[in-house]
Amino acid sequence: MTDKRDYYDVLGVDRNADASGLKKAYRKLALRFHPDKNPGNREAEEKFKEAAEAYEVLQDSKKRQIYDQYGHQGLEGSGFSGFGGFEDIFSSFGDIFEDFFGFGGGRRSRSRVHRGADLRYDMQLGFMEAAFGTEKEIDVEKAEACAACEGTGAAPGTGVETCPQCGGSGQVGRSQGFFTVRTTCGHCRGQGKVIANPCTTCRGRGKVLSRKKVSVRIPAGVDKGSRLRLTGEGEAGAYGGPHGDLYVFIYVENHEFFKRDDTSVLCQIPISFVQAALGDTITIPTIDGETELGIPKGTQPGDVFRLQGEGIPSLRNGHRGDQIIQVDVKTPTNLNKKQVALLKQFASLEESKFTSKLKNILKSGPSRAAN
Ligand SMILES: [Zn+2]
Ligand SMILES: [Zn+2]
Repeated sequence: MTDKRDYYDVLGVDRNADASGLKKAYRKLALRFHPDKNPGNREAEEKFKEAAEAYEVLQDSKKRQIYDQYGHQGLEGSGFSGFGGFEDIFSSFGDIFEDFFGFGGGRRSRSRVHRGADLRYDMQLGFMEAAFGTEKEIDVEKAEACAACEGTGAAPGTGVETCPQCGGSGQVGRSQGFFTVRTTCGHCRGQGKVIANPCTTCRGRGKVLSRKKVSVRIPAGVDKGSRLRLTGEGEAGAYGGPHGDLYVFIYVENHEFFKRDDTSVLCQIPISFVQAALGDTITIPTIDGETELGIPKGTQPGDVFRLQGEGIPSLRNGHRGDQIIQVDVKTPTNLNKKQVALLKQFASLEESKFTSKLKNILKSGPSRAAN
């Protein structure tokens, strides 16, 4: 048994109502109880479903005949069980809802217009180019809107037509008993529109592959792994859709002398052990040129000096980091006789200090040496 209301009562039409009478009645109810107009209203939701079911049956001559003869039970016996939810209703009456409200049945855009794809370009920069920024012109191969058809895909003078197979809904119905199974229209691939005379230049795709020179401004301070986005420099969208973006991935070449750590410039400077011992002023290469650096006497191997503001500009605020100099004290090689003699003399003087200390340590035994 069923407690469903009579379909004619639901729609408020008499038993002889014709197709246009049914549609008019249904339209009135659908507008009144549409879920978009009655958010969260369970009663409206039920009314909306009830009207959709009544309309689904009565607008179909086979189902209407069965209902007229056998009522609700007759339909249930034949496999019709109404709608599960809104999505069913919208997909069944897609075109009607388009008529009624001016939007797609499934409330999903079936537009042919799509945003173009993003592109990636890998760019190799010199160390200094990355540090100070530069401007590069790159060749990008990408899909652009076809000039011959202005991106429509239709031959000049012709247009894009409503798909004759699905009537523009992008979906086709196939009857299976009392069910109507809706599937994506194969003729227009669900787009609802077809091109009768495709543009010969782009073969109807609306896009052609082209090479374009793109100027890329590289800001000072980019580093390996930096990524620049050029809005709208990606591929053209489908049928007039917006362009995608172009992403430039940065790689930075090594420098023969400088290394980089974020905004710091690192380098190693060789000095002689005499410079280390006595102190000196030496000329240091910087990324701007060169500068003088005072080495204090008694400098040890591995000591680090810092030149403030001689580093790489920060990508965020432009403030320059430091240059960090590590000294590499070189032991002299290939000494001549005189140098050897002098070093021996030097050593004998050093020895008196160091060996006496050492002798004291050895005399006092291992336990004290550990202290
Ligand atoms: Zn074209
Ligand atoms: Zn179609």
